[in-house]
Amino acid sequence: MKNKPDIIHIIEQEGIELKRGKGLCPFHNERTPSFIVNQNRQTFHCWGCGEHGDVISFIMKLKGISFKDALVYLGIKSGQPVKVDPAIAREKKIQKDYEAAINNLYENLCQQSRELHKVRIQVKENPGALTEQGAAYFAGLMGELANIDFKLDTLLKGNFEDKIFLLRGEKYAYCRETKQTAIA
Ligand SMILES: [Zn+2]
Repeated sequence: MKNKPDIIHIIEQEGIELKRGKGLCPFHNERTPSFIVNQNRQTFHCWGCGEHGDVISFIMKLKGISFKDALVYLGIKSGQPVKVDPAIAREKKIQKDYEAAINNLYENLCQQSRELHKVRIQVKENPGALTEQGAAYFAGLMGELANIDFKLDTLLKGNFEDKIFLLRGEKYAYCRETKQTAIA
């Protein structure tokens, strides 16, 4: 595509302040910048809401206009039909896979957390039912519950690096079933 304007220039022109290629995302509300512009690739990406694209899709999304109108707005002359940039397509796929993995992990952890909470309530209601061995096992389960709740918290509020770190760790941990063996 001919005379595609520089993405940094256009984004700043639209009033988004960038510091070293980073700024507040115009597509979702945030106080800490997670909107990143890659000048080499001429793409933007938001780690907060997942918006991603080039200067044309940025203007389309920002202004709520069509591809054609975005070309006009940016003063780009379109000769041939636009091909999908394979690099962008690959990035999109990675982003999608990442989001799916996070969602999966979140659901798994929620399920585990629910089951452990159930065990906790049962033991609380009937503490005398625990054998000595059962009590030790129960203590272990509660440690695990705290761990799971911490992970859920990270998935909800953590930054990108924390989530990736968590995902990597979970890949090697096998799924442990939490049965109600604590109760004798
Ligand atoms: Zn965003």
